[in-house]
Amino acid sequence: LQEIEAHNLTDMELQKAKDLAERANDAKSRYLSGISHELRTPLQAILGYAQLLTQRADMPEKHRNAIQIIKRSGEHLAGLIEGLLDISKIEAGRLEIYRNRVKLPDLIDQMIQMFRTMALEKGIEFSCHIHNRLPDYVTTDEKRLRQILINLLSNAIKYTHYGSVEFHIHYRSEVAEFAVIDTGVGINEKDLNRILDPFERVRNANAPNVPGTGLGLTIVRLLTEIMGGELDITSTPGEGSCFKVSLMLSRIGEPVVETPPQRLISGYSGQRKIIMVVDDDPIHRGLMGDLLHPLGLTTFEARDAHDCLDALRNVTPDLFLLDVSMPGIDGLALAEILRTKGFQQPIIMISADAHERHRGSQSPSSHDEYLVKPINNQQLLESIGSLLSLNWVRSNDTAHVHVFDQAAIYHPRLIAIADHVLVRELITYANLGYKRGVNNKLEELNDSGLIDENTLTYCQQLANAMQFSALAKAFNAE
Ligand code: ADP
Repeated sequence: LQEIEAHNLTDMELQKAKDLAERANDAKSRYLSGISHELRTPLQAILGYAQLLTQRADMPEKHRNAIQIIKRSGEHLAGLIEGLLDISKIEAGRLEIYRNRVKLPDLIDQMIQMFRTMALEKGIEFSCHIHNRLPDYVTTDEKRLRQILINLLSNAIKYTHYGSVEFHIHYRSEVAEFAVIDTGVGINEKDLNRILDPFERVRNANAPNVPGTGLGLTIVRLLTEIMGGELDITSTPGEGSCFKVSLMLSRIGEPVVETPPQRLISGYSGQRKIIMVVDDDPIHRGLMGDLLHPLGLTTFEARDAHDCLDALRNVTPDLFLLDVSMPGIDGLALAEILRTKGFQQPIIMISADAHERHRGSQSPSSHDEYLVKPINNQQLLESIGSLLSLNWVRSNDTAHVHVFDQAAIYHPRLIAIADHVLVRELITYANLGYKRGVNNKLEELNDSGLIDENTLTYCQQLANAMQFSALAKAFNAE
């Protein structure tokens, strides 16, 4: 808009040009949120499985490092996607800055861990120099600070092919200065201002063709500005660059009580719960199953709203996990239909788009929780647990989850009767997919006192939803 105003245009021409520029800006915002939506869904699968695999006790040691890298890179990617959205939010004046209590030395350590490996892989040196004693805790927006440092450090490594990257930290009078100095390709004087704008990258014969989006420095500039800090760049082409960010990070003096690390969930006690997962993406449905089954939760999958409504004739779930964006009836509309039909069970909406909640739903009370992909597995379980008032069984070991045998915990009597003639007949019917036969055997099992009412209802629900292999598994027959 400033550029438009610099030209000598008539009022009408000016208005027209401004409208056009605003429409272009709107289109860009829509494009950004569209891309972030497309990326979040596959990323959810990558992160979800990486988290599951890191927690498995039977994961061979030699693969652990690789899984950790997949997980960290996925998280980094998730950060980038958020960056895209952030730019559109900052430009629209909608970004909120938080004031978190941040353990500064830990944050610096995480940066060192993350970038030392990256530098090592590229054959360049990485060193960190802390010039003053850092306060243990400071107040700042942790996520934004991390984002600024990650962008500067990853650029330094990306644009340096020989030599070193140094990370310097000074802390004086509540102001922290982070300097990232590299011996990389450097930047021409004329490009120095331009690269701070979105999608601007340096392309010339000397500049190597490295992949990137041209968004990293824009985010650094915008975030530094709204956090009240300063960004300073000096660079010599062919020799290297120095990116310096100064930020006010107020020291927190009082002693802090550390919260104990959250222990991993490994199951729950009490009656078995059923979760209906409605999502058109089979990978996401599979991920939910892989996450929830080992904990003793039963899932029913539906690929769209109609499928879900059909299944509800036979199953009564305790909770719904609904994907927001589905072809046909979307998740928010489905939630409203469910409420109108009298289903009062908790509903968790899962969305790939942070903006989606602002559209569509007329009554926000139709769902109980709204989570945006990529969702941390633990966070999802905490939400499910609190909505269903589950008593989670937590593992003492924070690194591994012990996967309990579901039937052994929740239906000890089922295993004890696995050899009973009625059970053998039931399994035969189940394997044939003969629903009526299965239901008759279940009634007989209940009449003869071998299974209680709860188990009967649970097994009948499985049979009515044609989930015969889950049923056979409950009797330990697989
Ligand atoms: P990206 O790295 O994705 O292209 P950025 O916004 O982070 O996007 O950077 C914009 C451009 O600035 C880069 O394309 C690169 O040309 C230049 N640049 C950024 N950091 C450095 C650096 N440390 N050394 C040399 N050039 C850099």
